[in-house]
Amino acid sequence: MGAYFKRMAIREIITAPDARLKQRSLPVERVDGALRGLMDDMLETMYDAPGIGLAAVQLGEPLRVIVMDLAREGEDPQPRFFVNPEILSVSEELAVYEEGCLSVPEFYEDVARPAECRIRYLDYNGELHEEDCEGLFATCFQHEMDHLEGVLFIDHLSKLKRSMMLKKLTKAKKQQEKEPA
Ligand code: ZN
Repeated sequence: MGAYFKRMAIREIITAPDARLKQRSLPVERVDGALRGLMDDMLETMYDAPGIGLAAVQLGEPLRVIVMDLAREGEDPQPRFFVNPEILSVSEELAVYEEGCLSVPEFYEDVARPAECRIRYLDYNGELHEEDCEGLFATCFQHEMDHLEGVLFIDHLSKLKRSMMLKKLTKAKKQQEKEPA
């Protein structure tokens, strides 16, 4: 039984400030069982958090992999997997969304990004797709793409705002270390 039993695991999400979030993720060579295992773990971890998008580097795996689910409350889950994702083009028009990030807990700020983009990626089965996205999908995709380059949404904010947030995050981390779990 054991060998064929699909195991998913909720993993720890790395939070800022942490040097591992600053690294550039590497392209995936092959979409195989091991990679699908990672994608399953990513999805499970994202649902548990809960969040709507997660990049592999947030679990300490610097690979170009993103998972996402933008289903609204009450809708069936719509898990999406993006391997070696690319942004082919973006619109000049910008859209502003209040963004948050599982690696920057409890902070939300408006970020302006291109409102639409054309993307290319491999799916869960390694098949190539090209697609146009807009709205929350476009914003979330660009947010996750940033993670693959070691960039967080707070890097789009003013230096003052960012350093205030990082100070608070560092303080929260120290507090957590003091209190036994
Ligand atoms: Zn994020």
